[in-house]
Amino acid sequence: MTRALPNHIWDNHACTPLRAGDDVVLPQLKRARDAGVSTISLNVGCAEQTPERHFQVLSWFRQWIKARPELYRLIETTADIDTDERLGVCFDIEGARGVGNELDRVERYYDLGVRWMLIAYNRENLAGYGCYDEDDQGLKPFGRELVAEMNRAGMVVCLSHTGARTARDTLAVSSKPVIFSHSNCASLHAHKRNISDDMIRACAAQGGVIGITGIGDFLCAPGEDMIDAFVHHLDHAVQLIGPEHVGVSLDYVYDRQELLDYLTSMAQTFPDGPPPEIRMVAPEDLPEIASQLRARGYDDNALEQIFRGSWLQVAQANWR
Ligand SMILES: [Zn+2]
Repeated sequence: MTRALPNHIWDNHACTPLRAGDDVVLPQLKRARDAGVSTISLNVGCAEQTPERHFQVLSWFRQWIKARPELYRLIETTADIDTDERLGVCFDIEGARGVGNELDRVERYYDLGVRWMLIAYNRENLAGYGCYDEDDQGLKPFGRELVAEMNRAGMVVCLSHTGARTARDTLAVSSKPVIFSHSNCASLHAHKRNISDDMIRACAAQGGVIGITGIGDFLCAPGEDMIDAFVHHLDHAVQLIGPEHVGVSLDYVYDRQELLDYLTSMAQTFPDGPPPEIRMVAPEDLPEIASQLRARGYDDNALEQIFRGSWLQVAQANWR
């Protein structure tokens, strides 16, 4: 029997507790590795957290990974991807507040392994507007400078969580392919975090990639099958723009309590509040997703592209 999953999988977004020095949950990263993930992007900060906190968490994660060279390694260049059996780790930042008003932080983050950052996390910041802002006035002058600096430094610009007009403006000014690292199809499931078919096409037309995410609220109504929905969103995106512009970013949150605390305590950033039940597609569900894609006629090449190749192409076009 053919193995459902490709040999290498790049999951472009995962969340462990953003607490420097806390290693209670980090060992669960092994779950991703055991499920077949070979490259993972680990979040190091989001929303209103200060740049100092981002750097503390980033430094802690790097230290923790370096102390476990038998299982993990830090990814620096595209030549580091999938060269051995260890789980390769790079990092991401959700929202330009991590940069504050100092653009030189972009390169400092890059040098520490951060490979993508999104422009605005749900709400307005110095760069632009979030997907929950009622009046998105587009990318701001500082946002234009930020995109130019990210393009120069090699950091991939991400537009998930960002407002639609700010996203359009960013697509227009970025000199490199841009991603929606973890956003699903609004035409299948209406949600402020999901994006229109037009936006999906616009991102792909510029060489970018859409990452389908396993967060249940962005996939389907409660009670519906999340794996079916994940495959449906992924297939819809592939029908629109082809497998070379579609990837996987589960956004699996390893500490549910931390997520609940964020959703409850930051009412401005998360106006919907916590859902009655946190639903997520887990790394262990990846084989079932691959099986269902094969049942829909996806061949080895298409799966290799979706589970790894699309992110690698964007990295090759952006990273230094
Ligand atoms: Zn997110």
